[in-house]
Amino acid sequence: METDVSKANTYEKFLPEPSEFSKPFWDYCQKHELRMQFCGECSNWIWYPRASCPSCGTSEKIEWRKLSGKGEVYSFTIIRQVIDNSPAFQKDIPFAIGLVELEEGPRIYSNVKGDELKIGGKVEVYFEDVTPEFSLPKFRTAQ
Ligand SMILES: [Zn+2]
Repeated sequence: METDVSKANTYEKFLPEPSEFSKPFWDYCQKHELRMQFCGECSNWIWYPRASCPSCGTSEKIEWRKLSGKGEVYSFTIIRQVIDNSPAFQKDIPFAIGLVELEEGPRIYSNVKGDELKIGGKVEVYFEDVTPEFSLPKFRTAQ
């Protein structure tokens, strides 16, 4: 049986390498859902994915809870030069990497897109389907 890998072969950047803990995150991203672990014991979000809650230590009551995908720019930087001249990233210059504070509290690093990026600016998640297996969560300015 032949598998169509043409789309997979066109993506030249790094792909995630899911661990047993982060695999559910990437599986939800594939469905265009932003979910993070949430601790039912102490009601804290857990990011990045891991085996036990860093706040209370439990590994029992951890669930994958859906986030709104809305947040604001906590910090960002504009990338104008790629150190190793990686052609895949070179094409995107300039681009922004932001630390996004989600409505629910957790902060996540991601690409942030938009003409008027600013600290405190509203952003929302979108998903870029880069291969059949992976959709990457990215953010863009929201209205
Ligand atoms: Zn906890």
